Amino acid sequence: KLPPIDGDFYDLSLKLSQEERDIQIKVRNFMEDEVKPIANEYWNKAEFPHHIIPKIGALNICGIAYEGYGCPNQSFLMEGVLAMELARVDVSISTFFGVHSGLAMGSIYLCGSDAQKEEWLPKMQRMEVIGAFGLTEPNVGSAVAGGMETTCYKEGNEWILNGEKKWIGNATFSDITIIWAREKETNRVKGFIVRKENPGFKAEKMEDKMALRTVQNAKITLTDCHIPESDRLQKCDSFKDTAKVLKMTRAGVAWQAVGCARGAYESALKYTKKREQFGRPIAAFQLIQNHLVEMLANLTAMQTMCFRLSELQDQDLLTDEQASLAKVFCSMRTRDVVSRAREVMGGNGILLEYDVARFVADAEAIYSYEGTKEINTLIVGRAITGYSAFVG
Ligand code: FAD
Repeated sequence: KLPPIDGDFYDLSLKLSQEERDIQIKVRNFMEDEVKPIANEYWNKAEFPHHIIPKIGALNICGIAYEGYGCPNQSFLMEGVLAMELARVDVSISTFFGVHSGLAMGSIYLCGSDAQKEEWLPKMQRMEVIGAFGLTEPNVGSAVAGGMETTCYKEGNEWILNGEKKWIGNATFSDITIIWAREKETNRVKGFIVRKENPGFKAEKMEDKMALRTVQNAKITLTDCHIPESDRLQKCDSFKDTAKVLKMTRAGVAWQAVGCARGAYESALKYTKKREQFGRPIAAFQLIQNHLVEMLANLTAMQTMCFRLSELQDQDLLTDEQASLAKVFCSMRTRDVVSRAREVMGGNGILLEYDVARFVADAEAIYSYEGTKEINTLIVGRAITGYSAFVG
């Protein structure tokens, strides 16, 4: 049994094997010892702590659920639990990791040829090469499947890419960025492994975000960017292949929401036991306990849902709609949990040094990325009613 963990009220981690729990504890200790002391400082500066990349690489957790190519071949449940553990301390680091290990490595794992997997996955697994994932554009976010404006066309043995991408996490310093583009001739979406040194590829940092400030999001411009056919993802033929990557990572975002809520809840619980007013710890007041219990109920429901979500993923039974429902539910409930955590901390709830303010801000990004609340709701709505309500 793990030592008592405040935010795991139903002892869900007992569902993990001993090996999985050892990995969970290793990652928790790393996050507490190495990341927690610097999380607020880097968030405040809006800078990325590059020195921790080799340390995360040494944890051997990248591509944790993938098979072969140096990847650990653990369960998707393990992957989800780790997304939670990273976000429990710092949602920015969890997002950096999710973009690299989930979106970028996942694109190559699901859509790359064997040669492409051999070339990139082992180096990415060790974090010697860092990846980004460029799908969203300035003019198209939610409607990117049908409205992608970035184009590609083939000339000889090369592809020429033109267009703009927005919000691309890690892309200011990533070695490679997966760029999705619509083929002019066929209108089908293709994926490309674009190297940072490719002429015509430019990534500029987006400034002044109020959430996930440590994550370096970029605006990317592609100007007659020449990519060899060998760097086109060979097993991607349409947006359906892009969607396979998103289904896999959307489950991770639901877990990330759990981590954000858990970090805020645990910080708030500790605070209420220490902080005294009217001669008693504020944890002894009924109205404070009401907040804490509602937070815990939400957190427990989210965790339980995510454990089942990952079990479905491990059995290869997970549907898009199931992933979307978890993402919607967890990102909504997280907003509620972090705002209650802020509330029970009074004024200190808005000070960075008490951690909860960062979780409150970061919950807003989780709410909107990898499909907004509305878009994931419409995906589930379509599945249960048979009516698509995306247009009109
Ligand atoms: P829009 O699509 O413009 O939507 C605006 C609002 O309209 C939303 O509330 C939306 O739900 C609503 N809406 C849109 N269509 C409908 C409809 N049919 N019915 C009802 N409501 C609707 N993208 C990447 O490719 N790579 C990344 O690494 C990446 N990282 C990100 C990191 C952060 C911090 C953020 C905030 C975003 C990131 N994104 C990334 C982009 C993210 O996926 C998009 O922000 C998201 O898909 C929403 O797109 P949008 O912001 O353009 O909003």
